[in-house]
Amino acid sequence: MDNELPVFGPRKKVAKDLAKKLISNAKIPNAPVSLQSVIDYLKTLYTLDVKKFSIGKKVSGLLVVCKEIDSESATIGFNANHPWCRRRFTIAHEIGHLLLGHCCNKNAEDGSVNETEANLFASELLIPTSFLKKDFSKIKNVQELAKLYRVSEQALSIKLMETRLV
Ligand SMILES: [Zn+2]
Repeated sequence: MDNELPVFGPRKKVAKDLAKKLISNAKIPNAPVSLQSVIDYLKTLYTLDVKKFSIGKKVSGLLVVCKEIDSESATIGFNANHPWCRRRFTIAHEIGHLLLGHCCNKNAEDGSVNETEANLFASELLIPTSFLKKDFSKIKNVQELAKLYRVSEQALSIKLMETRLV
């Protein structure tokens, strides 16, 4: 129908499917998701560096992609002043930006859409829905689950609501 408007907004399924594929390719068996294993796997595909930086508390992370004629390299920075579960989310979020191709997207209007996509990706990467369904049947406690997944209780609660487990 020609009166239908195109749909703009975050590519929720794309972001989540990408995280699922990464979990499976990096052979992550269960929670907690080893970000080191994820990064090691990505390093077989990309020239990727993950570094900590220390500049106050405002900036959580950053992604720098250098494109040359025959190569592309990426550096992910995370704030060393933030608590560990926050750093994990930041790194996962920046990996999302990288794999979703956001750094090549010069359209500033897409900013918030990109952030939503990167957050959905990070949430699925650190708290895979299939893992959570299994673990939630045994552990009904948000605090314990957050500890198991090495994520904040807030991140875990959002995921539980999103997957309609609570
Ligand atoms: Zn971001």
